[in-house]
Amino acid sequence: MCGILGICGQDDVAYDLVFGLTSLQHRGQDAAGIVTFDRAFRMRKGRGLVSQIFQEEHIEQLRGSCGLGHVRYATMGSTDVLDAQPVALNYPFGLAMAHNGNVVNFSELRRSLYEEHHRLLDTSNDVALILYTFAAELETKDLKNLTVEDIFDTVEATQNKIQGAYSAIALIANHGFLAFTDPYGIRPLVMGRKFTGEGVVYALASETTCLDYLGYEMMRDLDPGEALFIDADGQVHQRVCHCGHQAFCVFEYIYFAREDSIIHNRLVANERVRMGRSLARTFQKTGLSPDIVIDVPSSAYFFASGLAEELGVPYRRGLAKNNHIGRSFITPSQTQRERLVRQKLNAIRDVIRDKKIAVVDDSIVRGTTSKRLVQLLRQAGAKEVYFVSASPPIKYPCIYGIDMSSTREIIAAHYDPDQVARYIEADAVVYQTLDDLQALYEDLPCCYACFSGEYPTGATPAILEDVAKEKARSNR
Ligand code: SF4
Repeated sequence: MCGILGICGQDDVAYDLVFGLTSLQHRGQDAAGIVTFDRAFRMRKGRGLVSQIFQEEHIEQLRGSCGLGHVRYATMGSTDVLDAQPVALNYPFGLAMAHNGNVVNFSELRRSLYEEHHRLLDTSNDVALILYTFAAELETKDLKNLTVEDIFDTVEATQNKIQGAYSAIALIANHGFLAFTDPYGIRPLVMGRKFTGEGVVYALASETTCLDYLGYEMMRDLDPGEALFIDADGQVHQRVCHCGHQAFCVFEYIYFAREDSIIHNRLVANERVRMGRSLARTFQKTGLSPDIVIDVPSSAYFFASGLAEELGVPYRRGLAKNNHIGRSFITPSQTQRERLVRQKLNAIRDVIRDKKIAVVDDSIVRGTTSKRLVQLLRQAGAKEVYFVSASPPIKYPCIYGIDMSSTREIIAAHYDPDQVARYIEADAVVYQTLDDLQALYEDLPCCYACFSGEYPTGATPAILEDVAKEKARSNR
């Protein structure tokens, strides 16, 4: 998972890019980068948080009225700054690109780029595969008389070759700004605009929270397979290129997106309350009677409040969080994740002591974080601990850019809820059911592959093995 922001206007956009990226920081904390165009590409990338990478002197140098920004969580590729985005190249002329998502047929793409175009890609960063594929397709056009239709045809040819989930933004030197999504619209991309004295400024971002911060008006979500091009005169062109069946990542609502974002006309906070309410039905069937419902801060608050409301049980804040430490799901290694849980959360003893606690989290992936949380609650004197997962059991790896790409790591792929409860030392584990979750999205076709194993792009055993190998390779 990553966050992207592209801005195209009349004045320098670097300050908006930096401020906008800070509001997307929850989507990735490994690295960040910005490229702008002002007769030449101007780029700065680094490891760490946006605020650590961009100081005023750097922002001043990033001149240009169009630019791309990226915050990275490394699911593929190393955490090395060389694999940070955006990525630029000067073939067939200046191109720069950033993306959010994951390419799954990288072996095939690397092979075809080498055999057909003599391009040897030694990076495991998949945006390079999209960019080089795009460049190779663009090269077949009449570059001296490049038209908007040529650019859209190039996007379509690229979409036909790339398998996976991606929302991409790109700068085409002296031509304009491009954005496109994969044919299934798995990853989010929203368009906004701001009216200034000089004209309209457009922004394409992973989430609307970013537009809110910058004072842009939300226009709409991009459709699956859609491409949008803003030319050098500021004219917006649009075409749905290669479109498949929409399969929006439901995990954006469960965990990735910020609660104040609106995706596909749904406020994320409201979606989480709905999921919490829906969980109550399954919970009631267990016959358990908690004294209080608490959340694992901060992403589980809305699930917990929905569940508590529906059960008629008080919601309490039972865990305190150190907000100055990153999110545990999006740090690369398990050791780092466990250390972070210890540093990040502490039980509020008087709330917990002698109580039967229903503790709600967004999901249970490996089980190690959940186990540590149960220990914390027991140490604080909890009488019983029921661990409630707002998502259904995760049983399959996500191959689309979320860091759970090996079945070996996923606890529900091997254990039923009672066994998971024993492993994490809880008195019970209650999951959302997949049917209940799907019932909430009857009017929005979503991807549920990590629960069902049905991958919208199709996934052969060879692709699954390739993704797992690539992940292992990039972790070395
Ligand atoms: S597999 Fe799960 S996390 Fe991955 S895109 Fe689909 S719903 Fe989202």
